[in-house]
Amino acid sequence: MNSTSYVACPECDLLINYAQPKVGEKIHCPRCDVLLLKPSKQTIERTFALSFAGFILFFPANFLPLVSISLFGNANSDIIMSGVLALFTKTMWPVAIVVFLTSIVFPFAQISLSLLISGHLYFNQPNRYLICWMRWIHHLNEWVMLEVYMLSIIVACVKLMAISPLKFGWGLYAFVALIFITTLLISNRDNHLFWQRIEQLCKDNNHAN
Ligand SMILES: [Zn+2]
Repeated sequence: MNSTSYVACPECDLLINYAQPKVGEKIHCPRCDVLLLKPSKQTIERTFALSFAGFILFFPANFLPLVSISLFGNANSDIIMSGVLALFTKTMWPVAIVVFLTSIVFPFAQISLSLLISGHLYFNQPNRYLICWMRWIHHLNEWVMLEVYMLSIIVACVKLMAISPLKFGWGLYAFVALIFITTLLISNRDNHLFWQRIEQLCKDNNHAN
């Protein structure tokens, strides 16, 4: 027999008592019809693999040149951090801090936390910080703005192209791949399943002690 649990609708706050859905089944809110649960196969494995790929890609995306431009015989190449430093030197430090946090610190924290959580669940390792990490990652989703940064890079490239030919660096390819991975990561992560697994791990750990 299927066990029943409760879930709160994130749109209308209705508390719904439901039977655990099978893989492929969907549960919608009976009041506002928002999709509440849609369990899929190997969610934890997929999140772990995507987080690992994102963690690796983060370094070339941030430390390899994004674009190179040759102007009057001088070749210049820039990494993401150069943009932040340029804003600091132009005394636009409030903007520099926001760009630094939303394009470097928060994405790194989000990927690292995702790797930590999915890694612990994948290897069935209880950890007293799992609940804390889940709360942080939930808040970080609202602050990671890689897509906005990508848009500004595209605008800058289009403008610079009119002045001089550009050479795209490996950093840009890694950055595009990183955006793709983080988007997949957010859409793939099944928070409901993660909370259930964390609760189970904590219970098993308490019984074992
Ligand atoms: Zn609802």
